Amino acid sequence: MEDLVFKNAKIIDGTGADAFKGDVYVKSDVISKVVCESESGECADARLVIDAGGLCLCPGFVDTHTHSDMILLYDRQHVSSLSQGVTTEILGQDGLSYAPLSKENLVQYVKYLRGVNGKFDTPFSYGSVSEFRENYNNKVSVNTAYLFPHCSLRLETLGFKDEKLSGPGLEKAKAMLRKGLGEGACGLSTGLSYFPAAYSDTRELIELCKVVREFDSVFVIHLRSVFKGKTFDSVEEAIEIAAKAGCKLHFSHYKTNRKTMGQVNIIMEKIIRAINDGVDITLELYPYVYGSSYAAMFLPYWVCDGGFEAIIQRLSDKEIRSRIAREIDRKPAIDDAIITNLVNNVEYIGHSFKDIAKLRNQTMGELICDLLYEEELAFGFYEFPGKDIEELDTAFSKDIFQMLSWDNYMVGSDAIFVGENPHPRAFGTFTKLLRLSREHGFRLETLINRMTQVPCSRFKLDRRGLIKEGYYADIAVFDYESVTDRSTTGFSRNLSEGIKHVAVNGKLAFFNRQATGIFAGRAV
Ligand SMILES: [Zn+2]
Repeated sequence: MEDLVFKNAKIIDGTGADAFKGDVYVKSDVISKVVCESESGECADARLVIDAGGLCLCPGFVDTHTHSDMILLYDRQHVSSLSQGVTTEILGQDGLSYAPLSKENLVQYVKYLRGVNGKFDTPFSYGSVSEFRENYNNKVSVNTAYLFPHCSLRLETLGFKDEKLSGPGLEKAKAMLRKGLGEGACGLSTGLSYFPAAYSDTRELIELCKVVREFDSVFVIHLRSVFKGKTFDSVEEAIEIAAKAGCKLHFSHYKTNRKTMGQVNIIMEKIIRAINDGVDITLELYPYVYGSSYAAMFLPYWVCDGGFEAIIQRLSDKEIRSRIAREIDRKPAIDDAIITNLVNNVEYIGHSFKDIAKLRNQTMGELICDLLYEEELAFGFYEFPGKDIEELDTAFSKDIFQMLSWDNYMVGSDAIFVGENPHPRAFGTFTKLLRLSREHGFRLETLINRMTQVPCSRFKLDRRGLIKEGYYADIAVFDYESVTDRSTTGFSRNLSEGIKHVAVNGKLAFFNRQATGIFAGRAV
Protein backbone atom coordinates (compact mmCIF):
# COMPACT_ATOMS: atom_id res chain seq x y z
CA MET A 1 0.00 0.00 0.00
CA GLU A 2 1.22 3.52 -0.82
CA ASP A 3 1.51 6.11 1.96
CA LEU A 4 0.00 9.10 0.24
CA VAL A 5 -1.76 9.98 -3.00
CA PHE A 6 -2.66 13.36 -4.44
CA LYS A 7 -5.60 12.62 -6.71
CA ASN A 8 -7.16 14.75 -9.37
CA ALA A 9 -4.27 17.21 -9.76
CA LYS A 10 -3.10 19.37 -12.62
CA ILE A 11 0.45 18.05 -12.73
CA ILE A 12 3.30 20.36 -13.77
CA ASP A 13 6.25 18.00 -13.67
CA GLY A 14 9.11 20.54 -13.57
CA THR A 15 10.56 19.73 -17.02
CA GLY A 16 8.74 22.63 -18.66
CA ALA A 17 6.36 20.24 -20.47
CA ASP A 18 2.63 21.02 -20.64
CA ALA A 19 0.57 20.31 -17.53
CA PHE A 20 -1.62 17.18 -17.48
CA LYS A 21 -4.33 15.84 -15.21
CA GLY A 22 -3.53 12.89 -13.00
CA ASP A 23 -2.58 11.40 -9.63
CA VAL A 24 0.76 11.30 -7.81
CA TYR A 25 1.53 8.43 -5.42
CA VAL A 26 4.10 8.56 -2.65
CA LYS A 27 5.65 5.64 -0.81
CA SER A 28 7.95 6.46 2.08
CA ASP A 29 9.99 9.48 0.89
CA VAL A 30 9.74 9.04 -2.89
CA ILE A 31 7.23 9.40 -5.69
CA SER A 32 6.22 5.81 -6.45
CA LYS A 33 3.90 6.43 -9.38
CA VAL A 34 2.58 9.22 -11.60
CA VAL A 35 -0.68 8.33 -13.33
CA CYS A 36 -2.30 10.35 -16.15
CA GLU A 37 -6.05 10.82 -15.95
CA SER A 38 -6.56 8.71 -19.07
CA GLU A 39 -4.75 5.77 -17.43
CA SER A 40 -6.20 6.09 -13.93
CA GLY A 41 -8.50 3.10 -13.99
CA GLU A 42 -7.08 0.80 -11.36
CA CYS A 43 -6.08 2.93 -8.38
CA ALA A 44 -3.49 1.80 -5.91
CA ASP A 45 -4.50 2.02 -2.28
CA ALA A 46 -2.95 4.69 -0.07
CA ARG A 47 -3.02 5.39 3.66
CA LEU A 48 -3.87 9.05 3.02
CA VAL A 49 -5.79 10.23 -0.04
CA ILE A 50 -5.78 13.95 -0.76
CA ASP A 51 -8.14 15.19 -3.43
CA ALA A 52 -6.29 18.06 -5.08
CA GLY A 53 -9.56 19.16 -6.68
CA GLY A 54 -7.90 20.13 -9.95
CA LEU A 55 -5.30 22.39 -8.31
CA CYS A 56 -1.74 22.59 -9.67
CA LEU A 57 0.77 20.09 -8.33
CA CYS A 58 4.47 20.58 -8.99
CA PRO A 59 7.87 19.88 -7.45
CA GLY A 60 8.55 22.02 -4.36
CA PHE A 61 10.45 25.20 -5.16
CA VAL A 62 14.18 25.59 -4.64
CA ASP A 63 15.27 28.89 -3.12
CA THR A 64 18.78 29.18 -4.56
CA HIS A 65 19.81 32.08 -2.31
CA THR A 66 18.65 32.63 1.24
CA HIS A 67 20.18 33.90 4.48
CA SER A 68 18.31 31.48 6.76
CA ASP A 69 21.48 29.81 8.10
CA MET A 70 20.86 31.04 11.66
CA ILE A 71 17.12 31.76 11.76
CA LEU A 72 16.21 28.23 10.60
CA LEU A 73 17.71 26.83 13.79
CA TYR A 74 15.49 29.07 15.90
CA ASP A 75 12.41 28.87 13.66
CA ARG A 76 12.49 25.27 12.51
CA GLN A 77 8.94 25.37 11.16
CA HIS A 78 9.88 28.18 8.78
CA VAL A 79 6.34 28.84 7.61
CA SER A 80 7.51 31.86 5.59
CA SER A 81 9.01 29.44 3.06
CA LEU A 82 6.46 26.64 3.27
CA SER A 83 3.66 29.12 2.56
CA GLN A 84 5.48 29.98 -0.68
CA GLY A 85 5.83 26.32 -1.72
CA VAL A 86 9.57 26.22 -1.02
CA THR A 87 10.95 22.78 -0.06
CA THR A 88 14.72 23.33 -0.45
CA GLU A 89 16.92 26.28 0.52
CA ILE A 90 20.53 26.83 -0.44
CA LEU A 91 22.47 28.34 2.49
CA GLY A 92 26.03 29.64 2.81
CA GLN A 93 25.40 32.57 0.46
CA ASP A 94 27.59 35.58 -0.36
CA GLY A 95 30.56 33.95 1.36
CA LEU A 96 28.81 34.66 4.69
CA SER A 97 28.27 31.64 6.86
CA TYR A 98 29.67 29.68 9.75
CA ALA A 99 31.33 26.48 8.62
CA PRO A 100 33.99 25.37 8.83
CA LEU A 101 35.12 27.71 11.63
CA SER A 102 37.07 27.24 14.84
CA LYS A 103 35.17 28.05 18.05
CA GLU A 104 36.95 31.38 18.40
CA ASN A 105 36.35 32.49 14.81
CA LEU A 106 32.75 31.31 15.04
CA VAL A 107 31.98 33.43 18.10
CA GLN A 108 33.48 36.51 16.45
CA TYR A 109 31.88 35.96 13.05
CA VAL A 110 28.41 35.33 14.49
CA LYS A 111 28.74 38.80 16.05
CA TYR A 112 29.94 40.36 12.79
CA LEU A 113 26.94 38.89 10.92
CA ARG A 114 24.31 40.16 13.40
CA GLY A 115 22.97 42.68 10.88
CA VAL A 116 22.06 39.95 8.39
CA ASN A 117 21.43 36.88 10.57
CA GLY A 118 20.24 38.36 13.88
CA LYS A 119 21.59 38.66 17.39
CA PHE A 120 21.76 35.05 18.52
CA ASP A 121 24.13 32.94 20.56
CA THR A 122 25.65 29.92 18.87
CA PRO A 123 25.01 26.69 20.71
CA PHE A 124 25.56 24.87 17.44
CA SER A 125 28.65 23.20 16.13
CA TYR A 126 30.19 24.36 12.88
CA GLY A 127 33.65 22.79 12.90
CA SER A 128 33.16 21.18 9.49
CA VAL A 129 30.74 21.23 6.58
CA SER A 130 29.40 17.83 7.76
CA GLU A 131 28.69 19.22 11.23
CA PHE A 132 26.99 22.26 9.74
CA ARG A 133 24.75 20.10 7.56
CA GLU A 134 23.87 17.81 10.48
CA ASN A 135 22.41 20.79 12.42
CA TYR A 136 19.58 20.92 9.87
CA ASN A 137 19.20 17.26 8.88
CA ASN A 138 15.70 16.06 9.87
CA LYS A 139 15.55 18.98 12.31
CA VAL A 140 13.88 21.66 10.16
CA SER A 141 10.86 21.65 7.85
CA VAL A 142 12.72 22.20 4.56
CA ASN A 143 15.69 20.58 2.84
CA THR A 144 18.93 22.52 3.01
CA ALA A 145 21.95 22.57 0.74
CA TYR A 146 25.15 24.43 1.59
CA LEU A 147 27.63 26.52 -0.37
CA PHE A 148 31.13 26.65 1.10
CA PRO A 149 31.54 30.30 2.16
CA HIS A 150 34.69 32.11 1.04
CA CYS A 151 34.90 34.03 4.35
CA SER A 152 35.52 30.80 6.28
CA LEU A 153 38.58 30.12 4.14
CA ARG A 154 40.02 33.55 4.88
CA LEU A 155 39.12 33.51 8.60
CA GLU A 156 40.77 30.12 9.13
CA THR A 157 43.94 31.03 7.26
CA LEU A 158 44.60 34.77 7.63
CA GLY A 159 42.07 35.76 10.26
CA PHE A 160 39.85 38.80 9.66
CA LYS A 161 42.68 40.66 7.93
CA ASP A 162 43.22 42.89 4.94
CA GLU A 163 46.03 40.71 3.62
CA LYS A 164 46.90 38.69 0.55
CA LEU A 165 46.07 35.01 0.67
CA SER A 166 49.02 33.24 -0.92
CA GLY A 167 51.72 30.61 -0.30
CA PRO A 168 51.01 28.07 2.48
CA GLY A 169 47.86 29.98 3.54
CA LEU A 170 46.38 29.61 0.09
CA GLU A 171 47.31 25.92 -0.02
CA LYS A 172 45.61 25.42 3.36
CA ALA A 173 42.50 27.21 2.06
CA LYS A 174 42.41 24.99 -1.00
CA ALA A 175 42.70 21.86 1.16
CA MET A 176 39.85 23.10 3.39
CA LEU A 177 37.69 23.76 0.36
CA ARG A 178 38.50 20.34 -1.07
CA LYS A 179 37.41 18.72 2.20
CA GLY A 180 34.19 20.78 2.35
CA LEU A 181 33.18 19.98 -1.21
CA GLY A 182 33.92 16.34 -0.43
CA GLU A 183 31.56 16.58 2.56
CA GLY A 184 28.71 17.69 0.36
CA ALA A 185 28.97 21.47 -0.10
CA CYS A 186 27.28 22.20 -3.44
CA GLY A 187 29.66 24.99 -4.52
CA LEU A 188 31.84 27.87 -3.34
CA SER A 189 30.21 31.23 -2.63
CA THR A 190 31.70 34.67 -2.26
CA GLY A 191 30.35 38.16 -1.56
CA LEU A 192 32.87 40.72 -2.66
CA SER A 193 31.10 43.64 -0.96
CA TYR A 194 31.42 41.89 2.39
CA PHE A 195 34.29 41.24 4.75
CA PRO A 196 36.69 39.56 4.86
CA ALA A 197 35.94 38.27 1.30
CA ALA A 198 36.18 41.83 -0.05
CA TYR A 199 39.92 41.85 0.79
CA SER A 200 40.57 39.11 -1.78
CA ASP A 201 41.88 39.74 -5.27
CA THR A 202 41.07 38.07 -8.58
CA ARG A 203 44.16 35.84 -8.43
CA GLU A 204 43.10 34.32 -5.10
CA LEU A 205 39.66 33.53 -6.45
CA ILE A 206 41.06 31.87 -9.58
CA GLU A 207 43.22 29.61 -7.40
CA LEU A 208 40.28 28.65 -5.17
CA CYS A 209 38.07 28.02 -8.19
CA LYS A 210 40.56 25.49 -9.53
CA VAL A 211 39.41 23.31 -6.60
CA VAL A 212 35.79 24.01 -7.57
CA ARG A 213 36.63 22.65 -11.03
CA GLU A 214 38.10 19.44 -9.55
CA PHE A 215 34.61 18.66 -8.21
CA ASP A 216 32.81 19.88 -11.34
CA SER A 217 31.10 22.25 -8.90
CA VAL A 218 29.86 25.86 -9.09
CA PHE A 219 31.39 29.21 -8.12
CA VAL A 220 28.60 31.50 -6.87
CA ILE A 221 29.42 35.19 -6.88
CA HIS A 222 27.93 38.32 -5.35
CA LEU A 223 29.75 40.95 -7.40
CA ARG A 224 31.74 43.89 -6.12
CA SER A 225 31.29 47.34 -7.59
CA VAL A 226 34.44 48.86 -6.16
CA PHE A 227 37.74 47.35 -5.11
CA LYS A 228 39.76 49.34 -2.58
CA GLY A 229 38.34 52.63 -3.74
CA LYS A 230 38.62 51.99 -7.49
CA THR A 231 35.64 51.29 -9.73
CA PHE A 232 35.85 47.91 -11.21
CA ASP A 233 34.17 45.85 -13.94
CA SER A 234 32.88 43.13 -11.69
CA VAL A 235 31.12 41.08 -14.39
CA GLU A 236 34.38 40.83 -16.29
CA GLU A 237 36.15 39.78 -13.11
CA ALA A 238 33.64 36.98 -12.49
CA ILE A 239 33.97 35.73 -16.04
CA GLU A 240 37.76 35.89 -15.89
CA ILE A 241 37.81 33.82 -12.68
CA ALA A 242 35.57 31.09 -14.13
CA ALA A 243 37.31 31.06 -17.51
CA LYS A 244 40.83 30.83 -16.04
CA ALA A 245 39.87 28.25 -13.42
CA GLY A 246 37.67 26.33 -15.86
CA CYS A 247 34.75 26.07 -13.42
CA LYS A 248 31.01 26.71 -13.62
CA LEU A 249 29.86 30.21 -12.69
CA HIS A 250 26.63 31.37 -11.06
CA PHE A 251 25.67 35.03 -10.61
CA SER A 252 23.73 35.84 -7.44
CA HIS A 253 20.76 38.23 -7.78
CA TYR A 254 21.67 39.45 -11.27
CA LYS A 255 18.88 41.60 -12.63
CA THR A 256 17.99 45.08 -13.77
CA ASN A 257 17.49 47.83 -11.22
CA ARG A 258 16.08 51.35 -11.18
CA LYS A 259 18.94 52.64 -13.36
CA THR A 260 19.06 49.77 -15.87
CA MET A 261 15.31 49.12 -16.16
CA GLY A 262 14.34 47.86 -19.62
CA GLN A 263 17.96 47.11 -20.52
CA VAL A 264 18.17 43.34 -20.02
CA ASN A 265 20.01 42.91 -23.31
CA ILE A 266 22.64 45.40 -22.21
CA ILE A 267 23.30 43.92 -18.77
CA MET A 268 23.47 40.45 -20.37
CA GLU A 269 25.82 41.41 -23.22
CA LYS A 270 29.11 40.33 -21.62
CA ILE A 271 27.53 37.25 -20.11
CA ILE A 272 26.11 36.06 -23.42
CA ARG A 273 29.47 36.66 -25.06
CA ALA A 274 31.18 34.57 -22.36
CA ILE A 275 28.63 31.78 -22.75
CA ASN A 276 29.32 31.79 -26.50
CA ASP A 277 33.01 31.58 -25.64
CA GLY A 278 32.33 28.40 -23.67
CA VAL A 279 31.97 29.62 -20.05
CA ASP A 280 29.22 27.67 -18.26
CA ILE A 281 27.04 30.37 -16.64
CA THR A 282 23.79 30.40 -14.70
CA LEU A 283 22.08 33.24 -12.88
CA GLU A 284 19.35 33.94 -10.36
CA LEU A 285 16.99 36.79 -9.55
CA TYR A 286 14.35 37.89 -7.06
CA PRO A 287 11.31 39.88 -8.22
CA TYR A 288 11.90 43.18 -6.42
CA VAL A 289 13.63 46.24 -7.81
CA TYR A 290 15.22 47.26 -4.52
CA GLY A 291 17.74 45.40 -2.37
CA SER A 292 18.53 44.81 1.28
CA SER A 293 21.65 44.27 3.33
CA TYR A 294 23.36 44.97 6.65
CA ALA A 295 24.77 48.35 7.62
CA ALA A 296 28.28 47.12 8.54
CA MET A 297 28.84 46.95 4.77
CA PHE A 298 29.14 50.76 4.74
CA LEU A 299 32.28 50.63 6.89
CA PRO A 300 35.51 51.31 4.98
CA TYR A 301 38.05 48.50 4.44
CA TRP A 302 40.47 49.68 7.13
CA VAL A 303 37.73 49.84 9.77
CA CYS A 304 36.78 46.17 9.30
CA ASP A 305 40.37 44.94 9.42
CA GLY A 306 40.57 42.75 12.54
CA GLY A 307 36.88 41.83 12.69
CA PHE A 308 34.15 42.42 15.25
CA GLU A 309 36.19 43.44 18.30
CA ALA A 310 38.43 45.74 16.25
CA ILE A 311 35.41 47.40 14.60
CA ILE A 312 33.73 48.04 17.96
CA GLN A 313 37.02 49.31 19.38
CA ARG A 314 37.35 51.84 16.54
CA LEU A 315 33.73 52.93 16.78
CA SER A 316 34.12 53.45 20.53
CA ASP A 317 36.84 56.08 19.95
CA LYS A 318 35.11 59.40 19.25
CA GLU A 319 37.87 60.75 17.03
CA ILE A 320 38.14 57.62 14.94
CA ARG A 321 34.38 57.39 14.75
CA SER A 322 34.06 60.88 13.27
CA ARG A 323 36.79 60.06 10.73
CA ILE A 324 34.80 56.95 9.71
CA ALA A 325 31.61 59.04 9.53
CA ARG A 326 33.30 61.55 7.23
CA GLU A 327 34.44 58.74 4.92
CA ILE A 328 30.92 57.31 4.76
CA ASP A 329 29.54 60.80 4.06
CA ARG A 330 31.86 61.14 1.05
CA LYS A 331 30.34 58.03 -0.59
CA PRO A 332 27.13 58.16 -2.70
CA ALA A 333 24.12 58.95 -0.51
CA ILE A 334 21.93 56.17 0.86
CA ASP A 335 19.67 58.64 2.70
CA ASP A 336 16.33 57.07 1.95
CA ALA A 337 17.19 53.48 2.92
CA ILE A 338 14.72 52.03 5.44
CA ILE A 339 15.83 50.47 8.73
CA THR A 340 14.75 46.81 9.03
CA ASN A 341 16.27 45.61 12.26
CA LEU A 342 17.81 47.03 15.42
CA VAL A 343 17.79 45.65 18.94
CA ASN A 344 18.23 48.70 21.19
CA ASN A 345 16.57 51.42 19.10
CA VAL A 346 13.51 49.53 17.89
CA GLU A 347 11.52 52.76 17.58
CA TYR A 348 13.60 53.60 14.48
CA ILE A 349 12.60 50.43 12.62
CA GLY A 350 10.59 51.20 9.50
CA HIS A 351 11.95 54.76 9.28
CA SER A 352 14.43 56.08 6.75
CA PHE A 353 18.07 56.88 7.54
CA LYS A 354 17.27 60.45 6.51
CA ASP A 355 14.43 60.87 9.01
CA ILE A 356 16.38 59.40 11.90
CA ALA A 357 19.49 61.45 11.05
CA LYS A 358 17.32 64.58 11.13
CA LEU A 359 15.73 63.53 14.41
CA ARG A 360 19.18 63.00 15.96
CA ASN A 361 20.65 66.06 14.25
CA GLN A 362 23.40 64.01 12.61
CA THR A 363 24.94 63.43 9.20
CA MET A 364 24.28 60.09 7.53
CA GLY A 365 27.78 58.86 8.37
CA GLU A 366 27.42 59.87 12.02
CA LEU A 367 24.07 58.09 12.27
CA ILE A 368 25.39 54.88 10.70
CA CYS A 369 28.48 54.85 12.94
CA ASP A 370 26.50 55.58 16.10
CA LEU A 371 23.84 52.97 15.42
CA LEU A 372 26.42 50.33 14.49
CA TYR A 373 28.15 51.05 17.80
CA GLU A 374 24.98 51.20 19.92
CA GLU A 375 23.63 48.04 18.30
CA GLU A 376 26.94 46.14 18.25
CA LEU A 377 26.45 45.74 14.47
CA ALA A 378 22.88 44.32 14.70
CA PHE A 379 21.62 46.82 12.12
CA GLY A 380 20.02 46.05 8.75
CA PHE A 381 18.21 48.00 6.04
CA TYR A 382 16.51 47.85 2.68
CA GLU A 383 16.72 50.37 -0.13
CA PHE A 384 13.83 52.78 -0.51
CA PRO A 385 11.41 51.16 -2.99
CA GLY A 386 10.42 54.55 -4.45
CA LYS A 387 7.08 56.37 -4.49
CA ASP A 388 6.48 55.09 -8.02
CA ILE A 389 6.88 51.46 -7.00
CA GLU A 390 3.72 50.19 -8.71
CA GLU A 391 4.65 51.70 -12.05
CA LEU A 392 8.18 50.50 -11.60
CA ASP A 393 7.01 46.98 -10.76
CA THR A 394 5.08 46.76 -14.02
CA ALA A 395 8.15 47.72 -16.06
CA PHE A 396 10.34 45.46 -13.95
CA SER A 397 8.01 42.47 -14.49
CA LYS A 398 8.78 42.64 -18.21
CA ASP A 399 12.49 42.46 -17.41
CA ILE A 400 11.97 39.57 -14.99
CA PHE A 401 10.16 37.46 -17.54
CA GLN A 402 12.63 38.31 -20.28
CA MET A 403 15.36 36.95 -17.99
CA LEU A 404 13.33 33.92 -16.88
CA SER A 405 12.65 33.01 -20.50
CA TRP A 406 16.30 31.83 -20.55
CA ASP A 407 16.73 28.34 -19.15
CA ASN A 408 19.92 29.29 -17.31
CA TYR A 409 17.97 31.58 -14.95
CA MET A 410 16.57 30.50 -11.60
CA VAL A 411 15.05 32.13 -8.49
CA GLY A 412 16.76 33.04 -5.21
CA SER A 413 14.89 35.20 -2.70
CA ASP A 414 18.03 36.58 -0.99
CA ALA A 415 15.79 36.46 2.08
CA ILE A 416 16.97 38.17 5.26
CA PHE A 417 14.55 37.19 8.00
CA VAL A 418 15.62 39.23 11.02
CA GLY A 419 13.89 42.25 12.49
CA GLU A 420 10.36 43.52 12.58
CA ASN A 421 10.48 44.93 9.10
CA PRO A 422 12.53 42.72 6.76
CA HIS A 423 12.58 43.15 2.98
CA PRO A 424 9.32 41.62 1.63
CA ARG A 425 11.31 39.22 -0.59
CA ALA A 426 11.73 36.88 2.42
CA PHE A 427 7.99 36.24 2.57
CA GLY A 428 6.83 36.70 -1.02
CA THR A 429 9.39 35.94 -3.73
CA PHE A 430 7.93 32.70 -5.11
CA THR A 431 4.25 33.56 -4.74
CA LYS A 432 4.86 37.00 -6.24
CA LEU A 433 6.37 35.33 -9.30
CA LEU A 434 3.38 32.97 -9.59
CA ARG A 435 1.03 35.96 -9.36
CA LEU A 436 3.02 38.00 -11.87
CA SER A 437 3.13 35.09 -14.32
CA ARG A 438 -0.68 34.92 -14.14
CA GLU A 439 -1.04 38.69 -14.57
CA HIS A 440 1.50 38.95 -17.39
CA GLY A 441 0.63 35.71 -19.17
CA PHE A 442 4.08 34.15 -18.70
CA ARG A 443 3.85 30.38 -19.26
CA LEU A 444 3.45 28.69 -15.87
CA GLU A 445 5.23 25.46 -16.83
CA THR A 446 8.31 27.46 -17.83
CA LEU A 447 8.33 29.42 -14.58
CA ILE A 448 7.99 26.20 -12.53
CA ASN A 449 10.92 24.68 -14.45
CA ARG A 450 13.14 27.64 -13.47
CA MET A 451 12.17 27.20 -9.81
CA THR A 452 12.63 23.39 -9.69
CA GLN A 453 14.52 21.33 -12.25
CA VAL A 454 16.94 24.07 -13.33
CA PRO A 455 18.41 24.70 -9.82
CA CYS A 456 18.38 20.99 -8.89
CA SER A 457 20.38 20.13 -11.95
CA ARG A 458 22.79 23.08 -11.49
CA PHE A 459 23.54 22.34 -7.84
CA LYS A 460 23.34 18.55 -8.30
CA LEU A 461 20.47 18.01 -5.88
CA ASP A 462 20.11 14.33 -6.58
CA ARG A 463 16.63 13.11 -7.68
CA ARG A 464 14.89 16.36 -6.81
CA GLY A 465 13.09 18.99 -8.85
CA LEU A 466 10.78 16.74 -10.89
CA ILE A 467 7.48 14.96 -10.42
CA LYS A 468 8.81 11.64 -11.55
CA GLU A 469 8.84 8.07 -10.30
CA GLY A 470 11.85 7.47 -8.05
CA TYR A 471 12.33 11.17 -7.27
CA TYR A 472 12.05 12.46 -3.70
CA ALA A 473 8.52 13.55 -2.91
CA ASP A 474 9.09 17.30 -2.51
CA ILE A 475 5.72 18.56 -3.70
CA ALA A 476 3.71 21.80 -3.72
CA VAL A 477 -0.04 21.99 -4.41
CA PHE A 478 -1.43 25.44 -5.15
CA ASP A 479 -4.38 27.32 -6.59
CA TYR A 480 -3.05 29.21 -9.59
CA GLU A 481 -6.19 31.37 -9.80
CA SER A 482 -5.65 32.87 -6.35
CA VAL A 483 -2.01 32.32 -5.37
CA THR A 484 -0.43 35.60 -4.30
CA ASP A 485 2.17 37.27 -2.13
CA ARG A 486 0.85 39.50 0.68
CA SER A 487 4.20 40.73 1.88
CA THR A 488 4.62 44.43 1.21
CA THR A 489 6.86 47.17 2.52
CA GLY A 490 5.60 47.99 6.00
CA PHE A 491 3.74 44.66 6.21
CA SER A 492 6.52 42.42 5.09
CA ARG A 493 5.79 39.53 7.44
CA ASN A 494 2.37 38.84 5.89
CA LEU A 495 2.30 35.24 4.70
CA SER A 496 1.45 34.31 1.14
CA GLU A 497 -1.91 32.85 0.11
CA GLY A 498 -2.84 30.12 -2.33
CA ILE A 499 -0.32 27.39 -1.49
CA LYS A 500 -2.45 24.57 -0.07
CA HIS A 501 -0.18 21.59 0.64
CA VAL A 502 3.57 21.08 0.75
CA ALA A 503 5.28 17.72 1.16
CA VAL A 504 8.98 17.42 1.99
CA ASN A 505 10.50 13.97 1.49
CA GLY A 506 6.99 12.53 1.40
CA LYS A 507 5.89 14.11 4.70
CA LEU A 508 3.27 16.87 4.83
CA ALA A 509 5.08 19.91 6.20
CA PHE A 510 2.16 22.18 5.22
CA PHE A 511 -1.36 20.80 5.03
CA ASN A 512 -4.55 22.72 4.27
CA ARG A 513 -2.63 26.01 4.47
CA GLN A 514 -1.16 25.25 7.90
CA ALA A 515 2.35 24.23 8.96
CA THR A 516 2.21 20.80 10.57
CA GLY A 517 5.32 20.89 12.74
CA ILE A 518 6.87 17.98 10.84
CA PHE A 519 10.60 18.45 10.35
CA ALA A 520 11.44 16.11 7.49
CA GLY A 521 13.88 18.43 5.72
CA ARG A 522 17.22 16.84 4.93
CA ALA A 523 20.70 18.17 4.32
CA VAL A 524 20.93 17.50 0.59
ZN1 LIG B 1 22.55 37.49 -0.29
